Amino acid sequence: MVSERMLGLGTARSVIRELFEYGNQRKAIVGAENVFDFSLGNPSVPAPKEVNEAIIRILQENPDAIHCYTSAQGDLTARQRFADSLNRRFGEDCGPDDFYITVGAAAALCCVLNGLSCPGDEFITFAPYFPEYKVFVEGAGAALKVVPPEIEGFQIDFEAFEALINEHTKGIIVNSPNNPSGVVYSRQTLEKLASILEEKSAAYGHPIYLISDEPYREIVFAGFEVPWIPQIYKDTIVCYSFSKSLSMPGERLGYVLVPKRVTDSRNVYAAVAGAGRSLGYVNAPSLFQQVTSLCCDMTSDISVYESNGKLLVEELRSMGYHVVQPGGAFYLFPRSLEPDDKAFSERAKEFDLLLVPGAGFGAPGHFRISYCVQPEMIQRSLPKFRALAESYR
Ligand code: PLP
Repeated sequence: MVSERMLGLGTARSVIRELFEYGNQRKAIVGAENVFDFSLGNPSVPAPKEVNEAIIRILQENPDAIHCYTSAQGDLTARQRFADSLNRRFGEDCGPDDFYITVGAAAALCCVLNGLSCPGDEFITFAPYFPEYKVFVEGAGAALKVVPPEIEGFQIDFEAFEALINEHTKGIIVNSPNNPSGVVYSRQTLEKLASILEEKSAAYGHPIYLISDEPYREIVFAGFEVPWIPQIYKDTIVCYSFSKSLSMPGERLGYVLVPKRVTDSRNVYAAVAGAGRSLGYVNAPSLFQQVTSLCCDMTSDISVYESNGKLLVEELRSMGYHVVQPGGAFYLFPRSLEPDDKAFSERAKEFDLLLVPGAGFGAPGHFRISYCVQPEMIQRSLPKFRALAESYR
C-alpha cells in the first residue's frame, strides 16, 4: 500500500510536461527550428558572470569548509547579507534571525504553509495562479480557495474575494509579478487588499497572514512598480527565490522572511523552521547560500524579457488576440480564440505552437505563453500565431 494522495500526485499527467514531450516528438519529425515551444518557464538568459566567478572563488578559497552542513535555517553570514540587502533596498529593518533559507520558493511556500496550518484552516489565492499552490496547501493539510479572475486587468475581484474570506482563513497567497499573467499588482490593489485583511483580522480575532510568493520580484518592466508588500501589510511573510532573477532554477535557492512586525513573529518563525525540519528542508545547498548572498543585489541581463513581451503584445494584438499588458516576469496570458482553452491549445499544436491552456491556472478561456525564449524564435513564430488566428475567421 502507498499513500493514495502521493500516488495521485506522482502519476498525474502534467499538461506542461505532455506538451514538452509532444514538442520533442514533433521536433524529431519537422526539425527543432519548426516547433515553437512556449510551454516552460526556464530562464533563457545565463546567470551573471559574477555568479560563476563567485562559485570558483569560493571553491578556491574555502575548499574544505564549503561542503559542510550549515545551521538548519542557513548560514549566519548568508542570512545577514540577505537582511542587509533588503534593509538597503526597501528601508526594511530585518536581521539574520528573520530568514529561513530554503531550496527555492517551492520549499519556502511549503515551510510557511506547514508552519501555519492548523486543522480546518483555509488559504485563499487569486486566479490565475501557480497550480502548485493547491498541492502545497493540501500537503499542509489545509484547503485552497480560489478567487475567480478579474479578466480585464488580472488585478483582484474584491467582491468575489470578500465572499470567500471567513473565520477559517489563515492566509492569502499573492504572486506579483504573476505567473501566468505577467501582471504586477498595483499599489492601489495591494492597499485595498491590506485594508480588507486588517478589517477581517480584527473581526475574526486572529491575524490573516499574507504570503507573498516573489520569484519574479526583480523582473519588472519600465513604468511598473513592484511595491514592497511588508510595508503595506504588517502580517506579510515573504517567500523569495533566486531561480529567475539570477537564472539558476536548478541550484534551488530561496528563503522565507518573517519580519519582526508580523503578529507572533517569533512563533511563526519557529513554526516555519519546525516545518522545514519535518519536511527535511534543512540546510539549503551551502555553496549556493554563499553565492546567492554575495550576488543578491544583481540580476541576470533580464532586458530581453521586456523586449520579447513588448514584441509579442504588439503583434498579437494586431492579429486580434486580447492580451492584458504584462508588467514583469516572462509570461503572457491572452484569451483563447474559443471558450474551450484546451481545444484551442490542441488547435495551436497543428501550427506547431505549444501553448498551455489556462484552465489549470484557474482561468479557463485563456492560454499561457512563456516567452523566456530566443527573440528570433518569437519572430519566426509570428506567422504561426497569425495563421492560428485566421483559422478562426
Ligand atoms: N512560485 C511561482 C509563481 C513560480 O512560478 C515558481 C516557479 O516557476 C515557483 C514558485 C517555484 O520556484 P522555485 O524554483 O524557486 O522553487
